[in-house]
Amino acid sequence: MENLQVTKLNGSEASLEGAAVEAFRDGLRGSSLLADDAEYNEVRIIWNGSTDKRPAIIVQCSGVADVIDAVNFAREHDLLVAVRGGGHNVAGNAMCDGGLVIDLSSMNSVRVNPDTKRAYVGGGALLGDMDRETQVFGLAAPLGIVSLTGVAGLTLCGGLGWLRRKHGMACDALVSVDIVTADGNFMTASETENSDLFWGIRGGGGNFGVVTSFEFELYPIGPMATLCAPFYPLNESAGDIIRSWRDYMNEASEDISSNCLLWSIPAHPNFPEELQGTPVVITAAVHTGAPEEGERLLQPLRELGEPVLDLSGPIPYCGVQAAFDPLFVKGERQNYWKSLYLDTLDDDTIRYVVSRALDRPDPWSLIAIWHLGGAMNRVDPAETALGERRANYLYSLDTSWTDPAHNESAIAWTRDAWAEMKPFSRGGVYLNFPGQGEEGEELLRASYGSDNYDRLVKLKIKYDPSNLFRLNQNIFPRK
Ligand SMILES: Cc1cc2nc3c(=O)[nH]c(=O)nc-3n(C[C@H](O)[C@H](O)[C@H](O)COP(=O)(O)OP(=O)(O)OC[C@H]3O[C@@H](n4cnc5c(N)ncnc54)[C@H](O)[C@@H]3O)c2cc1C
Repeated sequence: MENLQVTKLNGSEASLEGAAVEAFRDGLRGSSLLADDAEYNEVRIIWNGSTDKRPAIIVQCSGVADVIDAVNFAREHDLLVAVRGGGHNVAGNAMCDGGLVIDLSSMNSVRVNPDTKRAYVGGGALLGDMDRETQVFGLAAPLGIVSLTGVAGLTLCGGLGWLRRKHGMACDALVSVDIVTADGNFMTASETENSDLFWGIRGGGGNFGVVTSFEFELYPIGPMATLCAPFYPLNESAGDIIRSWRDYMNEASEDISSNCLLWSIPAHPNFPEELQGTPVVITAAVHTGAPEEGERLLQPLRELGEPVLDLSGPIPYCGVQAAFDPLFVKGERQNYWKSLYLDTLDDDTIRYVVSRALDRPDPWSLIAIWHLGGAMNRVDPAETALGERRANYLYSLDTSWTDPAHNESAIAWTRDAWAEMKPFSRGGVYLNFPGQGEEGEELLRASYGSDNYDRLVKLKIKYDPSNLFRLNQNIFPRK
């Protein structure tokens, strides 16, 4: 075959010998795609429609051996590397221009041991893959709230979902991982084996290697849950709804996790046509104890005003986990999501939230206030790399818009809204909603906390000194 034009780790262009590429491809058990292969264009599309990257080669790994070969090939040829789990990273880090993509989508197996309450999950599995298998046994791990998100990316940077107050974050339920590090070594990391690495991957993202398998602790959950989803009008007095929601959640059972969403009723067949586009405040909550108890406990959240729509009620746990899926379709819109941890929601912060919500750049743009606390905040900040465990809220600007002509203005709006709220925070973001991470080291230090960040840098120097894994919230291996 002809030589392949590639991008090297330092961003420069180079020509890679065709024979070397061919030998590498022939050795794989999975497949690999080059730009002129039929499936290439479909496979390079990831969730955020703003991402349009063209890798030189996409390696569709079928197992650990392919991952090891791909890591070794990339390192030996000094290639830029991206790692794709579920492809839902909003910053688009799962793809790269001109480099090599390690695509784990086919490694999506899930095996559950109901006796030990453990799940063994492939590095490319989606949340829905895992919930589907664990629910067979009435079990679940804490994950996120859109079932098409990848377990890997979500867990490695934390993982916030409807079980966060009851059972913590996804990374808190991790028991061990199998990982291929930058030198091509296969390792297992847990509390007892390579424990420094295990500390780092619980929050440190994709910085330390390619996780081929996750072992999760599972908890009895379902088969039914209770959803609370009243849609109140979003207007100048929306602050009263937010205050009442805040006060309710301050006292709420840890069986309940809740997000207050400021949005417009989506233009989607799931919603009555006459209401589509109406600006709303949704006091969304999920209770995962006994359903009768759930309906009783959640009732006050449904009586904070006159809802224009109320979708509350009992729902299968897998159903609630997939409830948002139809509204977050791959490639459909442009996206830029940026967050800030907040300790309190006082009158000033609420005023900013409401004024920004009334002035969103597009009806699809969503502002979410995640109420935190409970089990996730009982973990010591030093216990996992993630760091932040004190904040009571996460303010997330999930800016989404349809017309690429608005890219600049929508991103500028988000950055302004973020900067305006920053004085009310300690400056840390949830690294699964980091914008493009454009503030670099300053943002990472604020988000991990200085002690955890320094420890992460040491780990990066130990496990990835040449920064092979750099397309992520990158911890630079600087001595
Ligand atoms: C619609 C939507 C809903 C979301 N909802 C939630 C939510 O409820 N809760 C929440 O916490 N977050 C949520 N997120 C954020 C989500 O957790 C992150 O975007 C996360 O990066 C997605 O993981 P992924 O595997 O799908 O992404 P990918 O784009 O495939 O990967 C993201 C990064 O993770 C790393 N990575 C991926 N796989 C591996 C692996 N196997 N080994 C090593 N590194 C790997 C790489 O650095 C990669 O760049 C949501 C995002 C979207 C788009």
